[in-house]
Amino acid sequence: MIKPDAVAGGHSGAILKQIEEAGFEIVALKLTHLSDAQASQFYAIHAERPFFKTLVEFMSSGKIIAAVLKKTNAVADFRTLIGNTNPEKADAGTVRKLYAKSIEFNAIHGSDSDENAMIEAGFFFSNFERFN
Ligand code: ATP
Ligand code: MG
Repeated sequence: MIKPDAVAGGHSGAILKQIEEAGFEIVALKLTHLSDAQASQFYAIHAERPFFKTLVEFMSSGKIIAAVLKKTNAVADFRTLIGNTNPEKADAGTVRKLYAKSIEFNAIHGSDSDENAMIEAGFFFSNFERFN
């Protein structure tokens, strides 16, 4: 997911280009605006964290782009491409190093496991298996 800061900043095209050039196939793609309830559901795993409220506010503050991506070793390779959660710690050339402003407003989300990738794909695309 390209987060509201990066979409509002006009970086969607550059980020999608970087994703494709890294060898990911875009299987499904959608521009949308999450409600407070949808953002809460998406990040429900962080409900007890001190930053949850501001995270939900941020994620519902503007348009996002959701994508389902396909590649061998996709989860690990995508997390390498996007870089550390904190852009100050992210490697040069990563999406977060290039476009994130802070650990909170950090431009992009990547699934953390194959299992969660399937859940998150289903969150945005009810029939995404058929796009494949
Ligand atoms: P994401 O799940 O968005 O890909 P991540 O897996 O790198 O990010 P998580 O630990 O899952 O990091 O945190 C989810 C999101 O919550 C982060 O991307 C960031 O937007 C926000 N976040 C994480 N840690 C902090 C923090 N210490 N302060 C503020 N916001 C935070
Ligand atoms: Mg995460």
